[in-house]
This record gives sequence, C-alpha cells and structure tokens, in this order.
Amino acid sequence: MLATIEGSDRSRAPLLVHGHLDVVPAHAPDWSVNPFAGEVRDGYLWGRGAIDMLDMDAIILASLERLQARGEKPARDVVLAFTADEEAGGLFGAHWMVDNMPGEFAHCSEAVGEVGGFSITVADQRLYLIETAEKGIAWMRLVANGTAGHGSLRNKDNAVVHLAEAVAAIGAHEWPTQLAPSVNGLLSEAAEILGMPFNPSGSDALEEAERIVESLGAIGKMIMPTLKNSSNPTMLDAGYKLNVIPGAATAHVDGRFLPGERDDFLATIDALIGPHVRRESYHDDISLETTFDGALVDAMTASLTKLDPGARVVSYMLSGGTDAKAFSQLGMRCFGFAPLRLPADLDFAALFHGVDERVPVESLKFGVDVFTDFLKTC
Ligand SMILES: [Zn+2]
Repeated sequence: MLATIEGSDRSRAPLLVHGHLDVVPAHAPDWSVNPFAGEVRDGYLWGRGAIDMLDMDAIILASLERLQARGEKPARDVVLAFTADEEAGGLFGAHWMVDNMPGEFAHCSEAVGEVGGFSITVADQRLYLIETAEKGIAWMRLVANGTAGHGSLRNKDNAVVHLAEAVAAIGAHEWPTQLAPSVNGLLSEAAEILGMPFNPSGSDALEEAERIVESLGAIGKMIMPTLKNSSNPTMLDAGYKLNVIPGAATAHVDGRFLPGERDDFLATIDALIGPHVRRESYHDDISLETTFDGALVDAMTASLTKLDPGARVVSYMLSGGTDAKAFSQLGMRCFGFAPLRLPADLDFAALFHGVDERVPVESLKFGVDVFTDFLKTC
C-alpha cells in the first residue's frame, strides 16, 4: 500500500517511511496468550508482530493521525509504503516494488524503517540505537559429487564424506573481528559510559570491542554478530538407502557478511569447502552502510532527546536484513528508526520472532510522541 502525505515544504525531496505488514508464524501452544489476539496484560501489548514490526506500523499511523487532527503537516512530503513478504526476503514485497515501480520512490532522498530507535540501558544511561548499516546475506547451497556404489565396497570418492568435510570446515572456521564505522558509534559511546578502553584505530581495538559487547548484557546477542562475518550450516541432505553410497550430497549454509566484505567472504568459503564441493547461490542480498550524520540524523536525535532528556543517540549495525536492502538500491540513505523507550531489564533481542513477543504500551506511546515530533522536523 502506497500513499503520499503532503508536507509543508513540497519543494524538498520526500522521505520514505516504510513498514512491512507480514509477520512470522506463531506456534500458539508455546505462548502464554493467543498470539493473534492483541491482548493487553501487565502493561504490555502481546502478540506476534508486537515488535516485528506492527509496533512501528501502528506508530506511523498514529503519528500521522495526530498531525492531521492538529491540522499540522510533516516537514516535507512523506511517501508511506506498507509492504508484504519481508519475512520471506521481500521478493514479492519491497524488492518487487523497487523493480516494477521504482518511480514511486525514485525521488526520495532517505528512508526510515524498522529495527532502530530503541533504547538499551548501559550502567543506568539510556542509549538509543539508530540503524545505519545491515550485514549482507549469502545463503548458499553446497553440492558434493562423488562416485555412487555399493555400501560394502571401498570408496575414496564418497559424496557424503566430501560434503561432511566441507560443512565441518565451515562450522569450525573462526571469522576475524572487523570494525565498521556504524558499530564503532555504539562501541565508543558504551565504552565511555562503562569506563572501558576503546580506540578503534589502536592495536587492541578488536579485543576491546569484544569486551565492550560482552558488557552490554542481553542486547550483546544482537551486537556481537556485527563484529564478524558468519556462516552457519543449517540443512543436510544425502542418500536414499543405507547400503547405497549416493552420487551427490547437498547442504545449505546461512552466510552473512559485513559491508564491503562480500568478495572476501565468498573466497574464504570457497577455500574452506575444497575441490570436491561446489557452491551455488540460494539467496543473496546486499549489505548497507550509510554515515551517521546529516539533517535527518539530527532530526531523529533531537526528537529522541527532546522526549527523553539526557539520553544519548548512537549508530549501530543490524546483523539481519530489512526492506531497506531493496529501497537502498534506488540510491536513498536508509535508517532504522522505530523509536521505543524500553525497560532496562527487557530482553529485547529475544522478542524478535520469539515466543511471547510483546511490547510495553508505554513504549508505544513514547514512540508516537517521538515519531510525531520527528515528522514535523524531518
Ligand atoms: Zn521485521
């Protein structure tokens, strides 16, 4: 669904505000509540999508409604896009729209979407994390070929063995820590608050970075993967009868690479899998990184600190992907900005696609206050 909301200054390039409407499935028996009832209990709104990302969809609509009720407008035109299919890679959602109707977005200079603008608490100091980067995706299929034959005979060219060696090598590989500017933004601020050393250009930077992330508590789960590429074997398939050596075997690997690292990442994978195994692409998507500066960053920062005085605002990188991957291909700068002031003890990272996904009602109200202010100053 697309809409253009007229802004005060129509001469400026529009801002794209995008949200996906699909959610991942929920296995109801695992939940404390009906995952599709939208129940409010203990100060939280419970249900699948409460965090990813019907929360922001609701914040966007409530903010626009509030502006309209007051007879006010966004600072500039807002192109509003609600998409489908994001949880399946966006091939029939944002990517489809970018490929088939780019004119609807081509004039937008920046975009804001999900997974940023939430708070974490570091030593009693609230930090808001704005997403300025995303790791790239390299989901791959590994195919091993060998000589088929009887299970009782000696076979030096067994596809199952070739594949198992490749999968084990990938699983055992330690990717080196690398620091990207987006990640350094968060680490520098956290280091200052924690009184820990962090010099991104110093010789101890990598160890310092890992120690800081380990000190962040539960949210560290979301930050640690942004220090390294990753490659996790996830599926194996070979054979059809116990006493038949198959001629082929396949595995799938979930690969993620840091911005700018795609070619090195794939070259390393190819070296690890060896000559008997072939790598095929299953699904690829780009990495992103923009700088943490400019008028839009200033507007996001000002709205957050106006509604939460004393808070600090930093950049961070998302280890996963969002529809921003599609929209960035049209040349706009993409940010994650779904503002939520969260309780210090909430394990936010665990709620994404998790059981008992929920969002504090007060956080949603804060989000509407911030986003309304942001739209007026964007
Ligand atoms: Zn999402």
